Amino acid sequence: MSGKVYVGVDLGGTAIKVGLCDESGKLLQTYEGPTGAELGSDEVMERIAQYIRLLVEESPFKWEDVAGIGAGLAGFLDIPEGIVRFSPNLKWHDVPVKKILEQKLDKPVTIDNDANVAALGEAWSGAGAGISNVVCYTLGTGVGGGIIIGGKIYQGFAGMAGELGHMSVVPDLEAIQCGCGQMGCLETVSSATGIVRMARDAVQRGDKTSLAMIQNITAKDVFDAAKVGDEVALRIVNRAAYYIGRSMAAIAVVLNPQRFIVGGGVSKAGEILFQPIREIFRKYTPLQVQENVDIVPATLGNDAGIVGAAGLNLR
Ligand code: ZN
Repeated sequence: MSGKVYVGVDLGGTAIKVGLCDESGKLLQTYEGPTGAELGSDEVMERIAQYIRLLVEESPFKWEDVAGIGAGLAGFLDIPEGIVRFSPNLKWHDVPVKKILEQKLDKPVTIDNDANVAALGEAWSGAGAGISNVVCYTLGTGVGGGIIIGGKIYQGFAGMAGELGHMSVVPDLEAIQCGCGQMGCLETVSSATGIVRMARDAVQRGDKTSLAMIQNITAKDVFDAAKVGDEVALRIVNRAAYYIGRSMAAIAVVLNPQRFIVGGGVSKAGEILFQPIREIFRKYTPLQVQENVDIVPATLGNDAGIVGAAGLNLR
């Protein structure tokens, strides 16, 4: 086999996934092993290097074909220096990931935060393939995001660009405090956590809903109830969608992306979520700014992180 390949690393709390992509962003091969987070950062770095070597050995490619290695990481990062300043889930302080992996593997290494990397993956070979300006939302436990301009991640001044979940969109009278300390963040209403909270509140208030029969309500329960016409559930879904649509309208006039991509567990709800998002976006965005702009589901699923990490080394 010839041509350059790119290695992506998705470092999770329990598993490290590594993958090999070709120049078009197609994921060719993957390898997965335990993180061993409890053994400390030296051991985790050794495992990443080991899994990458095994990945390439088991592939039809040679080590010389590897153009670079990228890693998507959670926590506070110094992206240009490739250092994890603080990772709450791995309990790391000042781990120089780039330097260690470059020493072990003798290839260029680039790191970025996991939400940005997932956005880059979708933009490269997922729902944004062929489009150079996209904004991605990840609706999960929280709301993550990433901004891709000209095919590259837009970092902002301190690497904090794309924190879409912390756009303050809920009016003060209805706002609750977000995990970030601010009031009324998008994440408080449009994440799975926010949707579940609104459902619990409705049940506690005594609203007439089938959700009252469920022990531990999940976001999926709320979408399922909305799909069969539960009005309380539908109101919650519409509220979650409303603020996403409003936030997109704000982003559209600032960045004018060609496409919004929405991924993460909550996005699996499908049209019941996407249709109101599109309606609100159309309603609040100037016509010239919304023309030929679309809002679509992500397509890479869990692979977006590996693919995007691999894409960090595209030049
Ligand atoms: Zn926040």
